Amino acid sequence: MKSHAKVVVIGGGVVGASVLYHLTKAGWKDVLLIERAELTSGSTWHAAGGMHTVNGDPNVAKLQQYTIELYKEIEKISGQSCGVHITGGIMLASTQERLDWLKMAKARGRYLGMDLEIISVDEAEKLFPLMDKRHFKGAMYDPIEGHVDPYGVTHAYAKSAQIGGAEIVRHTRVTDLQQRADGSWDVITDGGNVHAEHVVNAAGLWAREVGRMVGIELPILAMEHQYLITGDMPELVGKKEQLHAIDFEGEIYIRQERGGMLMGTYERAGVPWSEVATPWDFGQDLLPNDLERIAPSLEVGFQHFPALESAGIKKVVNGPFTFAPDGNPLIGPVKGLKNFWVACGVMAGFSQGGGVGLALSRWMVDGDPGADVWGMDVARYGDWTTLAFTNAKVRENYSRRFSIQFPNEELTAARPLRTTPIYEKLAAEHAVFGAYCGLEHPLWFAPSAAEAVDHVSFKRSNAHPHVGAECAAVRDAVGLLEISNYGKFEVKGPGTAEWLSHVMANRVPSVGRIALSPMLNDRGKLIGDFTMCRVAADHVLLIGTYAAESYYLRWFERLLPPSGVSVRPCAMEYVGLSVAGPHSRALLQSLVRDDLSTAAFPFMSFRRMEVGMVPAYVGRVSFTGGLGYELWVTTDYQRALYDSLMKAGREFGIRPFGGRALNAMRLEKSFGTWAREYRPIYGPYEAGLGRFVDLKKERFIGRSAAAEEKESGGALRLLGFRVDATDADALGDEPIWHDGKVVGWVTSGAFGHRVGASLALGYVPAAVAAAESGFEIEIIGERRNAVPLKGAAFDPSGALMRV
Ligand SMILES: Cc1cc2nc3c(=O)[nH]c(=O)nc-3n(C[C@H](O)[C@H](O)[C@H](O)COP(=O)(O)OP(=O)(O)OC[C@H]3O[C@@H](n4cnc5c(N)ncnc54)[C@H](O)[C@@H]3O)c2cc1C
Repeated sequence: MKSHAKVVVIGGGVVGASVLYHLTKAGWKDVLLIERAELTSGSTWHAAGGMHTVNGDPNVAKLQQYTIELYKEIEKISGQSCGVHITGGIMLASTQERLDWLKMAKARGRYLGMDLEIISVDEAEKLFPLMDKRHFKGAMYDPIEGHVDPYGVTHAYAKSAQIGGAEIVRHTRVTDLQQRADGSWDVITDGGNVHAEHVVNAAGLWAREVGRMVGIELPILAMEHQYLITGDMPELVGKKEQLHAIDFEGEIYIRQERGGMLMGTYERAGVPWSEVATPWDFGQDLLPNDLERIAPSLEVGFQHFPALESAGIKKVVNGPFTFAPDGNPLIGPVKGLKNFWVACGVMAGFSQGGGVGLALSRWMVDGDPGADVWGMDVARYGDWTTLAFTNAKVRENYSRRFSIQFPNEELTAARPLRTTPIYEKLAAEHAVFGAYCGLEHPLWFAPSAAEAVDHVSFKRSNAHPHVGAECAAVRDAVGLLEISNYGKFEVKGPGTAEWLSHVMANRVPSVGRIALSPMLNDRGKLIGDFTMCRVAADHVLLIGTYAAESYYLRWFERLLPPSGVSVRPCAMEYVGLSVAGPHSRALLQSLVRDDLSTAAFPFMSFRRMEVGMVPAYVGRVSFTGGLGYELWVTTDYQRALYDSLMKAGREFGIRPFGGRALNAMRLEKSFGTWAREYRPIYGPYEAGLGRFVDLKKERFIGRSAAAEEKESGGALRLLGFRVDATDADALGDEPIWHDGKVVGWVTSGAFGHRVGASLALGYVPAAVAAAESGFEIEIIGERRNAVPLKGAAFDPSGALMRV
């Protein structure tokens, strides 16, 4: 084994082999893969090898498309067959809700160029005669589904990488990782040491253990997974290879395997494997079968596919593979650890391995993944993902793999975990809570405890009228919202203003003022949107998206000078409440000595005040788009602040409101939000944030790309729409049609109660953005007329925010 390499990839499963291949393809030849045993010695060797393009996250779906297309390329380079069988697949719906879900999945696939089709049960039966059509209501057909040979794929990647210059060392275990002062790594193995500039943790079943070598606890857990192969079936003799099928109700996937069928389940009673530590002596081993556990799924399977019952079981495979809490991979550089990369938690290696390898290699070589990989970024998790939290969420995710998650459905595992001091007080007001980064926050308030439950639905739910009443309170009187679930950073030091001016696209506000600012990457794309609150010359409170805290910190770390400025995350040190509505000023004025008149404390002001007995930062700003204030206090004061606002607010008609009402109101103002309207695939002018980009500044990150975008106008435009929808609103990811063609996609949607209309925000090509008509938005399979808005639906002049 060589003693130095630019990159050491730890792990020779399908993911490590793909990363290795993609690094050579991107031009890095001095790369070494170290594998403990033979290639495929983790989850890979016993996988069922199924692959498909459909994924809840369109950006992950794109990378899945890429993976499937890649197999031809690596077969050609390596001469190694991947054993690709493209059979096509059907997803079977037994309920109307599932059929609606399929229609939505088909619609999402439209703008990704997927050729999905909703078919009747009769058509489905023709394609897949093993099904008993009496159990189903309809199906979706996908021509690009199939399966591969896991051994063949891994070796095809590995050989292609070797042809490209990579080296692979087998039967060598990495036992420790030690970082040198310059950020490079000593990779300690039982066969000698290697000095590497970069290390990639692609250790699959052992990724947690490799993470622990560098002091991190990666949120992944292995689950046992079983599939069985039937005996040969006369029904298959002389027939074309059967399609892949997913039967959601049975939690079953099924495909042909030689003369029989392979059937796997994601059973409700899923069992984790090696919950705390994965044994190093586990190799190409299987776990004992437990057919009892999957019996309920098998029973449904035998009813739905009767020929299987008489075929008999030839073989059962029970093997472990890893999941992150949301079931998507964990990739990218790890905050605080220079040159340490992860590519793990990949639960669908044969659909996703290629895309993971591509994105990670680009990230390493070019400094940017080249695609929107937020849904897979390791930085989407933070300190709350303890071992037990991950355990609870992974079990839940596994057991719900084939369940529908409704847009208003809040999953229950690992809750409540994090709460603010007013949690019980809000519960007493009949709050229905959601969890965000493990933190409970109110979504809406029911009139009674008995009604404080969401009836899950793709349509407007039981919460609709109550959310409407909350919006009316904000429109006509005053509402109170808990805003603790925002991310916060304290930027301090003499270099604060200069550094922020370099990192943010907008100018840094003067002391006592607030400025909104996009944060751009070097390519001028949006990687954040912040509220900068200038506390003092050398002190700014930055407020942004909490879920992106690690993502932002990783970026800040890269840019911070050795001295003069520091950035400290303080999300849970400052918790907050917002009061909004025409009476919010009078309410707050009754509690503070400072003059809150517009002349003395205008829109976008920020100041330390005493609110009753509570010391607070008060900003005159509100995401509701009307008159409003955000109040930030240290956690110990939140109860007192809440009590005094609620007490004083009684005479002003105060009413608590939640995140659902806020979402509706921000849509009425066409205000975007991170991960929906603002993502690294959009530029600031495309996203309508041009007014927050200060091109008068000579230098800031992304300036030249932003200037070019301003000049060219960019390729896309974010538009607001009023949608002719009656009982269901757009949610996000629906296609936008124009003149009979899919031209764009919805990023968010909701009913705007203050304007009495269904609203959506979405991106369309700049060339069609000026059209005044001809738009439609597809909601649950139905194309609804959509009228593009010239400005915000509510208070387009913005006068109300400034009164
Ligand atoms: C029963 C079953 C059925 C499945 N069916 C499908 C399917 O149909 N479709 C699909 O896409 N996916 C399927 N999967 C999931 C699939 O197997 C995984 O997504 C994939 O194998 C993950 O690959 P990996 O490279 O991340 O991890 P692994 O395969 O676990 O590879 C990690 C490698 O790293 C090595 N390693 C670990 N630590 C060290 C160290 N310290 N030093 C050196 N080497 C080390 C290990 O020996 C191992 O070879 C299935 C899994 C199971 C268990």
